[in-house]
Amino acid sequence: MERFRSASGIKRRVLIVDDEPVNRKLLGNILSEDYDIRYADNGLEAWELLNGNNNDYSLILLDLLMPVMDGFELLDKVRSDEVLRTIPVIVMTSEREAEVKSIRQGAADFIAKPYDMPEVILARCERIIKLAEDNSIIRSAEKDIVTGLYTRDFFYEYIRQIDAHIDAMGKNMSMDALVFNIDHFHLVNEMYGRRAGNSVLVKVAQTINQVLEDNAAIACRPEGDMFYVYCKHIEDYTSVLDRIRQSLGDTAGTAKIRLRVGIYQNVDMSIDAETRFDRAKIACDRIKDDYTTTSSYYNYELHLKSIYHERLIRDIDESIKNEDFKVFFQPKYDITGDKPVLTSAEALIRWEHPELGMISPGDFIPLFENNGLIQRIDNYVWNKAAATVHKWKEKYGVSLPVSVNVSRIDIFDPEFLSKIDRVLKDNDLTPNDLYLEITESAYADNAGKLTDITNTLRDMGFSIEMDDFGSGYSSLNMITSIPIDVLKLDMKFVRNMEKDAKSIKLVELVLDIAKFLDVPVVAEGVETGSQLDLLKQMGCQIIQGYYFSKPVPEDEFEKFIQTEKTS
Ligand code: C2E
Ligand code: MG
Ligand code: MG
Repeated sequence: MERFRSASGIKRRVLIVDDEPVNRKLLGNILSEDYDIRYADNGLEAWELLNGNNNDYSLILLDLLMPVMDGFELLDKVRSDEVLRTIPVIVMTSEREAEVKSIRQGAADFIAKPYDMPEVILARCERIIKLAEDNSIIRSAEKDIVTGLYTRDFFYEYIRQIDAHIDAMGKNMSMDALVFNIDHFHLVNEMYGRRAGNSVLVKVAQTINQVLEDNAAIACRPEGDMFYVYCKHIEDYTSVLDRIRQSLGDTAGTAKIRLRVGIYQNVDMSIDAETRFDRAKIACDRIKDDYTTTSSYYNYELHLKSIYHERLIRDIDESIKNEDFKVFFQPKYDITGDKPVLTSAEALIRWEHPELGMISPGDFIPLFENNGLIQRIDNYVWNKAAATVHKWKEKYGVSLPVSVNVSRIDIFDPEFLSKIDRVLKDNDLTPNDLYLEITESAYADNAGKLTDITNTLRDMGFSIEMDDFGSGYSSLNMITSIPIDVLKLDMKFVRNMEKDAKSIKLVELVLDIAKFLDVPVVAEGVETGSQLDLLKQMGCQIIQGYYFSKPVPEDEFEKFIQTEKTS
């Protein structure tokens, strides 16, 4: 017979509690080959053992009549203990009445005295332990370990049950879907540590539960710093949200946290639960960078937008096949000398949709980044850009590197390195020909992993440009430890540079950081000569922007190469 051991091969621990030495020995002999046996003379001794350091017991075999503390009392204490209650207890007795009483008190099973055949006892112990373990697996999948809220799958399952119940009762009950998100939660983890981060999550979960419990709410934490709530319809959320905020405001010890919420009221019961929460999330995402408000309702305008998005998602494959996606190129000029020198270009995607017309990346990139489809776009762009670099080499005998945008999803794809390597090989290029732009906010999400991968990429010979620098809320500590070759200053600094002194100071600060890191700065979005002069004065090396050119198709871009060659 195959021995019943835990997955790791370690014997499970069983506690035998009996005041009769003969009984202890008898049971011990039967079980000790399969289990790690501990003994106690009475209830009190067992209680002390259970609360000692090595308290991971899989089963308690309990005699009822004992001096000092009897079996009933111990059973009671174990069953009402937060931690110990999950350990199954089998009582050992010769009285029928006691059997019934102990089962009522929460014993899992009983073994009659005098002892039965050893096989029967072994089989009973094994069955009870298995049952308890299966139960605890179910429990752990049902509830999120950190907050105790439901996990995503169970949450959706309970929603289906609630809906069925509402339906069966013939009730016309309206329900709301809420999505909460903590702003820049990664900073809490980074600055105060994971433990503090977890306690913020617990606090948020408790607060949401408390405030909404009167509304038949169920809540889950589907991932990270996100919380979903399904509850009876509330017409006006003002006071609910005030109470949540007030309660969170009292959280001592950590930074003030801002909780955003997207609300989809009177959900459409005919669509699935997942889609209802997608809608609440759309409302929540809309106010991500808007510091003037912390709540947003899913409305008709957003509804139209989500229908539009569904259309884009549906059309992506067809458009890739038909080459409706076009790769444009925008030049970057080195301005350190007397006259600007063309140094590289950035590849930027455009969607010439056969029915919807020209769609700008701002309308589809964030959408595709959210659902992972961005990988198809990026792969397409990398290949097109690489083919173009190759073509220019052949046609003009120049090596003009092109930088491509790399999304965070690409980077965490285990195939990423081999994919990018394939692109180079297919187009007969080296890593010097293709720069990689990674947006700063990607680093903020998972600095450790990204640092590892960018290190590998640099070892392979790639140059890494940190895109949109200044918009990603990374900490100074993080920036200085990230391996990069170029900083791309976020466009909004340049835009505001001549408007307020603070923006100028920020540009100076970024240039100082770059100097410290010993990397050049690319300023994006430079539209005027005066912006260029100012940036040049401050020591910025490379300029990209409408001042030189908008992003243009490949053949139009060639005029810049030709000009450069003849000058
Ligand atoms: P980005 O990578 O920061 O690209 C720079 C954006 O600034 C481009 O917008 C460019 O057209 C715009 N721009 C450049 N100079 C000026 C200027 O002087 N004035 C103004 N107003 N704008 C200027 P675009 O092409 O709309 O792209 C927006 C964003 O979409 C990009 O920001 C990038 O994050 C993303 N994106 C574009 N193509 C791709 C792609 O192939 N893959 C991925 N993952 N993202 C892409
Ligand atoms: Mg870019
Ligand atoms: Mg940028």
